Amino acid sequence: MNVNVAAQGEADQAITHFDVLIVGAGISGIDAAYHLQQHCPDRTFSLLENQESFGGTWLTHTYPGIRSDSDLFTFGYGWKPWHGNPIASADKILNYLDEVLDEQDIRRHIRFNHKVTTATWSSDDQIWTLEILRGDSDETSTMTCNFLWMCQGYYKHQEGYTPDFPGMADFRGQIVHPQRWPEDLDYSGKRVVVIGSGATAATLIPAMADACEHITMLQRSPTYFATRPNVNELAEQLRSLDIPDEWTHEIVRRSILREQQMITAAAIHNPEAVKAQLLAMAKEHLGDGFDIDRHFTPTYRPWQQRLALIPDGDLYKKLKSGKASVVTDRIDTFTETGIRLKSGEELEADIIVTATGFNMAILGDIAFTIDGKPMTFADRITWRGFMYSDFPNMAWVFGYFRSSWTLRADLISAFVTRLLNHMAAKGVKSVTPVLRDEDRNMKLGPFIDPENFNPGYVTRSIDRLPKQGDHEPWRFEHDYHAEKDILPKADLDDGSLVYR
Ligand SMILES: Cc1cc2nc3c(=O)[nH]c(=O)nc-3n(C[C@H](O)[C@H](O)[C@H](O)COP(=O)(O)OP(=O)(O)OC[C@H]3O[C@@H](n4cnc5c(N)ncnc54)[C@H](O)[C@@H]3O)c2cc1C
Repeated sequence: MNVNVAAQGEADQAITHFDVLIVGAGISGIDAAYHLQQHCPDRTFSLLENQESFGGTWLTHTYPGIRSDSDLFTFGYGWKPWHGNPIASADKILNYLDEVLDEQDIRRHIRFNHKVTTATWSSDDQIWTLEILRGDSDETSTMTCNFLWMCQGYYKHQEGYTPDFPGMADFRGQIVHPQRWPEDLDYSGKRVVVIGSGATAATLIPAMADACEHITMLQRSPTYFATRPNVNELAEQLRSLDIPDEWTHEIVRRSILREQQMITAAAIHNPEAVKAQLLAMAKEHLGDGFDIDRHFTPTYRPWQQRLALIPDGDLYKKLKSGKASVVTDRIDTFTETGIRLKSGEELEADIIVTATGFNMAILGDIAFTIDGKPMTFADRITWRGFMYSDFPNMAWVFGYFRSSWTLRADLISAFVTRLLNHMAAKGVKSVTPVLRDEDRNMKLGPFIDPENFNPGYVTRSIDRLPKQGDHEPWRFEHDYHAEKDILPKADLDDGSLVYR
């Protein structure tokens, strides 16, 4: 893939104040830039990106087989047709974003190797001042803006989460986390154990299995997987009829969204039926002799965690072929030659891959100060899941877990640009979510309800996340089908947003 990092001209670098600064040039930051150009053409903006190129998640992760786990008709933007198969490799996603940067003339607005370390708001000046560390020179500088649009994702890009397993230091082979995949890792003919059974493990194992001597998926507890061919028949049919790409994209998107809505409703109202269907898929691929109860029957409800999709049943095929196997057990200790399990079984390994998840980064690990007072995010209450009480002129794009992340990035982008235009029409410079009298005694709960969604990286960080209230606009609706109607009509003058 051709990642074209534009050289930045002197003039670009000389400008240090913008109306809007977008932090992050992943799929959300690029979406924000597109919406600003479309709907607020008079606003100046720049994207600040810590890495040396764009793409965020799809640049950071380079492990074998790296691909999306949701379809690109909905993970792609509503406004840019997707031309490929539903599940896409990181390369293809980066190419798609690369096209967007050219087609929408966004590339020149990005400043790469710019890590935002602090953000300080002054109510007197109505301005954010950001401290920036240059990754390519270690120099620091400051930039200012009126509105801060946080598109920095939800996890630390520098390193993944590895639990502190006993005996790790004794292991004589190599331990690798998928988030930092060594370019030269040679696993051919090697015995590999992958710890974890989320989407990352489900991607890695089929991609590595043929080259390894053997690869084992070691899980503490099972995950639900859905299998389906990596082709969208409706898209294929519309394409064969030469229907314009934009129509095909929109029609396929709507059909996928409708289907997902039905699956989500079924998972909530009839979880046993959905569970039975998912287990039947596993049985169909793995055959009767496989212990599906032990290895593929989770204790949580379907959709309490993200449902991992395995295109064309590739993981199951490798398990059936014997090139890969699955072990459900707890780790007692790493040993010099592998892993000893609580059951006493030993797994011999040359390489151990810890597909054990992420470390959450709250607001890009940026230290926030408002009028001289350091702000703790955990003390705040979220305004609709993307703005925060007493945080002026700031939005954080936090996408959906169950549906494609980008569906929410699109909705938030449309909302923020509507809000910026509303502020311009009112002649004000700041907007701050503030609890109204009727909000002060509302019941507070966690940012993400663990009953609704409870993956490890969220539960590990829940104390550092803001709270949500028990009524609008202080709730974080995790439902695209509700928010797509609520957000475009949300009242900007209901008293919960204070303008100055
Ligand atoms: C392997 C993997 C597969 C996934 N697959 C899917 C999927 O199929 N569907 C789905 O919906 N979601 C998926 N997700 C979730 C995924 O992260 C999001 O959907 C999406 O890519 C997030 O985009 P983003 O732009 O919001 O954040 P990111 O992709 O995380 O990008 C954020 C950018 O901000 C930059 N940044 C962070 N902090 C700072 C700072 N302080 N200063 C400057 N820059 C900063 C980072 O360097 C990064 O480039 C996946 C996640 C992973 C890890």
